[in-house]
Amino acid sequence: MTVHPGPARSRVGTHRQAWAEVDLAAIRANAALLAELAAPAQLCAVVKAWAYGHGPVEVAEAALDGGATWLAVALVEEGRHLRDAGIAAPILLLSEPPADAMAEVVRSRLTPTLYTPGGIEALADAASAAGGDPIAVHVKVDTGMHRVGAAPADAVALARQVAAHPRLELDALWTHFAVADEPADATTGEQLASLLATAERLVGDGIAPRLLHAANSAGALFHPATRLDLVRCGIALYGLAPAASVADRPPCSALQPALSLAAQVSHTKTVEAGERLSYGLRYRVATRTVVATVPLGYADGVTRLLSSTGGQVLIGGRRHPIAGTVTMDQILVDCGPDADVATGDVAVLLGRQGDQEITAWEWAERVNSIAYEVVCGVSSRVPRVYRR
Ligand SMILES: *Cc1c(COP(=O)(O)O)cnc(C)c1O
Repeated sequence: MTVHPGPARSRVGTHRQAWAEVDLAAIRANAALLAELAAPAQLCAVVKAWAYGHGPVEVAEAALDGGATWLAVALVEEGRHLRDAGIAAPILLLSEPPADAMAEVVRSRLTPTLYTPGGIEALADAASAAGGDPIAVHVKVDTGMHRVGAAPADAVALARQVAAHPRLELDALWTHFAVADEPADATTGEQLASLLATAERLVGDGIAPRLLHAANSAGALFHPATRLDLVRCGIALYGLAPAASVADRPPCSALQPALSLAAQVSHTKTVEAGERLSYGLRYRVATRTVVATVPLGYADGVTRLLSSTGGQVLIGGRRHPIAGTVTMDQILVDCGPDADVATGDVAVLLGRQGDQEITAWEWAERVNSIAYEVVCGVSSRVPRVYRR
């Protein structure tokens, strides 16, 4: 996407000359694409971790507008935040909440994931204390990733325990994939088979969860059999591929990245050949060059690792290297000997400028990370600007 400095600056509402622009039309379009791809399965928009750095309320509204019918978050607090903003769609908690959070789960009408007898008891107690309609529960089966969930051998009894309780309702049985972003890996099929076998044993007991779900973005995009009744998409909703290796493959190539990160050049100077720059004086200029200062640093999520791994910035539609150590609040950019760069020019760290684009995957691959971590890492100090 193109960063528009004018509207962005005027809507920041702070004195900071740095901003992350979130394109809500892109979120809506990505949601529509995923909803259509997954249909008849429903789309659950994963908006945990402050919507991967994009802002949960704005993203949730855009995703629901685009065709999502569910939202998912990691934390009770994240769910409560959406309810406080007036969002009424069902909100799935992706892990079992702590026992002392169950009253809040009930109060905020969140849909908890459960996978321990203690969790089921704690929720049942909170639901009984609160009265009202039964609470929908999603029981999670650990089919191989071994992060959270009940072993398949235990899941049937837990689901039965939920179904038997008058204050609880077994709404879904689900699992999560470990390697769906490696489309050729057979493990995803094995994990799916394990979930389906567990569901069959439940049905054999006369208990049928309303929904089965398994797919994350990679599952929804590359493993059609995993779409089941609902797909839980995070990274693709934000317009990013689940892995660099599949970024150019359809349907990933049709996704629109929603987040850009930019700042106005705050200072420029000409530096003579042989001078060295920034902390540690680790960057030596070979020839006289124009160096721009950009007011974004590691406190904003611009990792210091970019100092030594070839990090780049777009200024004037061209790529320039980050020169020397990334500091807490600022970076230096080597714009070259004849650069026509002035204070106020827009520098893009993530996003498009002219015909150049720095993607979250490009940045991630430099620093041995993933696009998820890059976008989640844009810190709360950076004002978000929403393009609608
Ligand atoms: C974060 C998460 C997702 C979303 O994953 P993406 O790869 O971003 O689509 C789905 N399910 C669970 C359980 C998660 O924790």
